[in-house]
Amino acid sequence: MLAAPFAHRLQPIIHGAFTTAQQAGYEFTAAANTNAITLVFFTRKGASDTKPIASLPRGSVQSGFNEVAIRALSLACGVRPHRSLQIRARLNFRFKVRVRTLDHLLATLRRYCGALPDLRQGKNTSYAMADFALAAFAPFFLQSPSFLAHQRHLQTGRGRSNCETLFGMSKIPGDSQVRAMLDPVDPAHFYPMVADVLAVLQESGGLDAMRCLDGHLLIALDGSQYHCSDKIHCPNCSHRTRGKDKTEYFHTLLCAAVVAPGHNRAVPLQPEFIVPQDGHDKQDCESRAVRRWLAAHAAQYARLDPVYLGDDLMSRQPTCQAVLDEGAHFLFVCKPDSHPAIEEFRTGIVLDELLQRVRRGKQWTTYRYQWLCDVPLRGDAKAINVNWFTIEIINQDGAVTYRNSFITDLPVTRDTVAALAAAGRARWKIENETFNVLKTKGYNLEHNFGHGRQNLSAVLATLNLLAFACHTACDLADRAWKAARRELVTRQGFFHALRTLTSYLVFPSWENLLETMAFNRPPPLGP
Ligand SMILES: [Zn+2]
Repeated sequence: MLAAPFAHRLQPIIHGAFTTAQQAGYEFTAAANTNAITLVFFTRKGASDTKPIASLPRGSVQSGFNEVAIRALSLACGVRPHRSLQIRARLNFRFKVRVRTLDHLLATLRRYCGALPDLRQGKNTSYAMADFALAAFAPFFLQSPSFLAHQRHLQTGRGRSNCETLFGMSKIPGDSQVRAMLDPVDPAHFYPMVADVLAVLQESGGLDAMRCLDGHLLIALDGSQYHCSDKIHCPNCSHRTRGKDKTEYFHTLLCAAVVAPGHNRAVPLQPEFIVPQDGHDKQDCESRAVRRWLAAHAAQYARLDPVYLGDDLMSRQPTCQAVLDEGAHFLFVCKPDSHPAIEEFRTGIVLDELLQRVRRGKQWTTYRYQWLCDVPLRGDAKAINVNWFTIEIINQDGAVTYRNSFITDLPVTRDTVAALAAAGRARWKIENETFNVLKTKGYNLEHNFGHGRQNLSAVLATLNLLAFACHTACDLADRAWKAARRELVTRQGFFHALRTLTSYLVFPSWENLLETMAFNRPPPLGP
């Protein structure tokens, strides 16, 4: 048995390699074994997963300690610490090492990709399973539909490509092979990766920065279409008729994302795919998808103390009840037309009201809030009671420029109503910052791989959402990524530079690429 008390911890300022330790969750333990004659370094990821990575004989502890410590770091981080790094020799100590957020996330994704079930028969296995999934992920991550085509050119001309150096792929498979291999894959295979992204955000403080309403996190749920065509379709497509004899095929999913008012980032969580169910209308399908999502994932997110946001389709009793059953809270849009019982109940009641005047430039704007607590959600005896409120934004001329109403189980008072309205309005972010980005800002790359017969379109949508989640994590937690984003000012400029540079040059690492983008390093020369 090796004893591992923790007498000393290296502070995270010693070297760049140390600076992302907690995010990556790596711990290094040096332990002296008094019976044997060795000093061993362990990496520890989680409580149970320990493995020795470097050791040296006890006799040479004083002279060789620093060398073996540096070797341990190099092995674990893939980056050799600066040679001036001095780790003082103590027999019992532990320190944490930071691996860069992006490298850590991609290594994690590679692990999930590598564990995909291999259904191939016979000897046609010159590609690793991970190569197929990474080949589909990389164009999403780089926002570049032509990424693989460029990398094939580089591979032919230079004998190397960014697929290998940046994504750790062993070969670049053809598009039709990617399609064939990913079509039978269950998209849920990639869902555990969401927890890894959240862990990075949690440890970097990014998640806490999104908390509101006294420490809650907002999780917006929203249905969205992610494929629509009058030609391409699969057995899982939903369809509708357009005009006289035209059929349109489409796929929808329920997206969940952590959002926050006044915060310009969203973190997508696991999606729930909506497959056609005969006899159910759109509202029914989406409401069922919400309940399936809650049943599958809500327990996992209970520790975030979430408030679920949703549109008017969700402000019905079964969905509200499903959220409450998970010990969570809801804040849903509630349109007057679809909730006659609430409208009837509040007729004739004088509502509580709060007016706030806000100056925006030269203009004065008035926010008017009205609320009523303990309102039955529907007209029958089994109705649950909810708290209802409305917000109106009124311009200088007295015209109402925005109006919306919501229901929630959280207490609505003079002190909370404005914050609740801001949180409820944060729901639009899932559309603006998740789906508009997914649809219009370069993530829509389905044409590369086609649609598939089984799950391909769902697998691609999932990898697309994961690419988006990794971008958000890097925006908040990766030092080199943040520096490059800062230099290139806009998101568009950043991805343009990323696409262009990787089309013509092979970069040995992400660090190298991002430093080049931040103008801190010249681009690599030749092969
Ligand atoms: Zn389809």
